[in-house]
Order: sequence, then C-alpha cells, then structure tokens
Amino acid sequence: MIKTVKTVKQLRAAVAAWRKRGLSVGFVPTMGFLHAGHQSLIKKAAAQNDRTVVSIFVNPMQFGPKEDLAKYPRDLAADKKACAAAGAHLIFCPEAGEMYPPAFAARVEISGVSEGLCGASRPGHFTGVATVVAKLFNIVQADRAYFGQKDAQQLAVIRRMAADLNINTRIISCPIVRGSDGLALSSRNAYLNARERQAALCISRALAAGRKMLEGGARSALKVEAAVRATINKEPLAKIDYVKIVDPQTMRPVRQINGAVLCAAAVFIGKTRLIDNFIFGA
Ligand code: AMP
Repeated sequence: MIKTVKTVKQLRAAVAAWRKRGLSVGFVPTMGFLHAGHQSLIKKAAAQNDRTVVSIFVNPMQFGPKEDLAKYPRDLAADKKACAAAGAHLIFCPEAGEMYPPAFAARVEISGVSEGLCGASRPGHFTGVATVVAKLFNIVQADRAYFGQKDAQQLAVIRRMAADLNINTRIISCPIVRGSDGLALSSRNAYLNARERQAALCISRALAAGRKMLEGGARSALKVEAAVRATINKEPLAKIDYVKIVDPQTMRPVRQINGAVLCAAAVFIGKTRLIDNFIFGA
C-alpha cells in the first residue's frame, strides 16, 4: 500500500530521506477524487523524477462562500489506488488545520493574470490557489511540479508566482485528458446526471469548432468567440459564464489573433460549473 502522511513534519522527513540518497522529487498537487487526468500528471512526474509526491487537499481558501466546498467529492481509498497505479510514492493529505492553523494570516496574491476569466467569476479563488500552492511548494521543495493545461489560468498564475517569488521548483504543464466523447475529465463531472453529461459535450464541441475556424484562417477573436458561444447556446441546459480568447501567459484579452492564444470557456451545466480550453498557434 502506498504511504500516506498527514503532517508537514512527516512529509519533510520522508523527502529529506530521499534527498540524502540523492533522489530527485516530483510533485503533483490535487484536490483528490482522482481520474485519468490527474493520473497523467502523476505518470509524467514518475517518469521524470526518482520519487513522486501527490498532495490531496480540498483547499477551503480557494472556494467562495456559495461554492461547493462541503459537497466536493472525496474518496481517499480510491485515490490511494489511483496514485499507486500511476507510480506515485507518497501521498500528503493534511487536515485543514494542518495547513491553516488558527493564527494563519498569509495571502499570496498574483495580480493581473488572476483577474479575468475565472478570477472575475470567482473572487478570491486564485489568491486561495496561490497561497496553498506556495505553501505546498515550500513544504515539498520538489525539483518539478506538474499542472494540467485544463486549468489554464491556474497554470499561468502558478508560473507567474514561481517566477516572481524565485521558487526553485520547475513548473511542468500537461495536456488535457478527455473522455472518449470529448468531455474534459474533471472531478466535478461526478455532479452531472446522465442528461447533463450529454449536454456538457457542447463545450468541447464548441471549442473544437472554434479551433477549426482558427485553423481555417479566422483571425478576429470576437468572431471566433461568438461562434463558440452560439454553439454552446444551442444546448438548453448550458449557461455560459465566459468564452474568451486571451494571451496564454498574461490572460489579457486578444482582439486580432497573430500569435499564440488561449481560447477558454466556463459553462454552467445545470448547477455544475465546468471549464475547458484549447491553445492555438503555440
Ligand atoms: P484538481 O484536483 O481539480 O485541483 O486538479 C489537480 C491537477 O490536475 C491540476 O493541475 C489540474 O489542472 C489537473 N487536471 C484536472 N483535470 C485534468 C484533465 N482532464 N487533464 C489534465 N489535467 C487535469
């Protein structure tokens, strides 16, 4: 059975023992309820490092007061199996009190890149993400950390943070893993009923149509965004939060497309908010 630790002290001791032997360390931060998308990150970490740590922590600081913190899906027993199968060596699953003791007062705020898209719809979300990831980076002190392109803005925020704060962990991005029907894998897909899951396919379908327009030579971001929105709006269960074409590093809106762009969407399917995206021209 894969080893699981709950305290910072235990985690540090395990990593120190590896370091003493000269082993390299990869790190995959997650909120658990692991699927093949998470496992792709773990597999890459295991391929590129001698030892791989996976953290499983549903971070209260990154959830808004009306969001799904209490009902976020959890299954530690299944997660342990998924981690072991993908090649991880150690799981760090702290209680909230271990990460945020009563006197906790720090906030890591990454301005600019945190502000549009999900940052606009979820105030404080990326401060919560940056704060917990900065803590986890300091705790694990990995050589490399792995993040999914699925959360494109999160990846950009973490890259900015790592550069600005001289964090000595290399940030590695991993492609989006999808179901055979095209839906981007997400722990939140567990909220969808059969009808909603079918409806959710409109997101990847609309983005694929947007990509085709770009591949066909379209260069007006407004036109491509409008076409993606129109496809999603055909689905009665879907309600668009945003569809935006932005610079993949800064998340600033792009009007005329002439370099690499990120086309990102957030869509409510019933009560479930899903995100997906693609990069074009990189
Ligand atoms: P989460 O547990 O949702 O916080 O995700 C943990 C990490 O897994 C993040 O870096 C995500 O971007 C990544 N991830 C989640 N879903 C996918 C997916 N379908 N493909 C690739 N990476 C993913």
